[in-house]
Amino acid sequence: MVKFRKIGVLTSGGDAPGMNAVVRAVTRSALAKNIEVVGIMGGYSGLINEKIVPLTARSVSNVITQGGTFLYSDRCLEFKTEEGMAKAIATLKKYEIDAVVVCGGDGTFRGATDLALHGIPTIGVTGTIDNDITASDYTIGFDTAMNTVIDVVDRLRDTCESHARCNVVEVMGRDCGDIALMTGIATGAVAVCIPEIPFDEELVIEKIKKAALSGKRGMVVTVSEGVFVDDGNGKQIPYGEVLAKAIDDKTGVETKFARLAHIVRGGSPTLRDRLTATRMGAKAVDLLLEGKSNLVVIEKEDKLDSIDIVFALTLDRMYKGKLKDGDLDKFSAEDVAKMEALCQERRDKLKVLYDLAYQVSQ
Ligand code: ADP
Repeated sequence: MVKFRKIGVLTSGGDAPGMNAVVRAVTRSALAKNIEVVGIMGGYSGLINEKIVPLTARSVSNVITQGGTFLYSDRCLEFKTEEGMAKAIATLKKYEIDAVVVCGGDGTFRGATDLALHGIPTIGVTGTIDNDITASDYTIGFDTAMNTVIDVVDRLRDTCESHARCNVVEVMGRDCGDIALMTGIATGAVAVCIPEIPFDEELVIEKIKKAALSGKRGMVVTVSEGVFVDDGNGKQIPYGEVLAKAIDDKTGVETKFARLAHIVRGGSPTLRDRLTATRMGAKAVDLLLEGKSNLVVIEKEDKLDSIDIVFALTLDRMYKGKLKDGDLDKFSAEDVAKMEALCQERRDKLKVLYDLAYQVSQ
């Protein structure tokens, strides 16, 4: 077992309910092993600006119930520069921080791998509502965000039912359609629209006409914020609002548009997120003590595991069709085949759910 005197923990990128539970778990797991813990405030900017606070068992009391992140988050561009990294390393040395746990999304992991390459043992924990870390079946905050969506959409459904109306609801998720798809199923949406699978607008219009004729009153369509359409002048604009207008124009069903935006990010984490955050936070400390670095904690088939961060980031780019020249050069043929299989597995799972969404929405 590796000996550390002090570790740092930070939250970065888009906040997610459950980040506080990660910080609590890291803090208390480390303290239980006689390791001091400090919080790095405001993501990577805290390393650049020396915003370091000691964390005790009491400083993380009662945070497990709270959304957001009490360590605050920031998008810190300076950290991406050589000078920024040099300042961050100097802060870690000055405060005698031996290792770091970072909680965030793919951008945060790019920062983590930079720290690891500079010799700082670093472990990532997936904290993002989007569920867009391809290597992991689950990311912290996803369940809470989806429960918030279904709470709001159920309310919209009530009023749609009263007025025989349709509501197109745009939800977060960036390039990942998981929130729109799963909440679409859970709210009985008449259609879902996600970036990963082509959307048949005409089919949906016909479906809505037919449903209205058969006496269906309230209707909801969930659309992921990551779906865009050309506005006719070469500019890409979010599709949700455009779809709402098309349904309104072509079906005779009055249709409104709602963008849930950041509402979905806040709120007290669900049991699923509190539990996963606690398990992943503790696992991150265990990995550091085993002498590991440059890994991200993931969940696969209901079990916690860990995976090389660079592998995870490359896998993400492969899944999203964003591989850059040379990305795969550092991987063996076996690793590339593994990535391709993981992408296919994820696509297959998504397709099964997508087909189910359409099958049960009539
Ligand atoms: P998320 O972690 O939710 O994907 P961002 O993409 O905003 O959020 O990334 C969070 C932070 O991680 C950034 O503000 C920056 O400080 C750091 N970061 C992002 N990309 C890189 C990179 N290529 N190299 C180093 N640090 C990065």
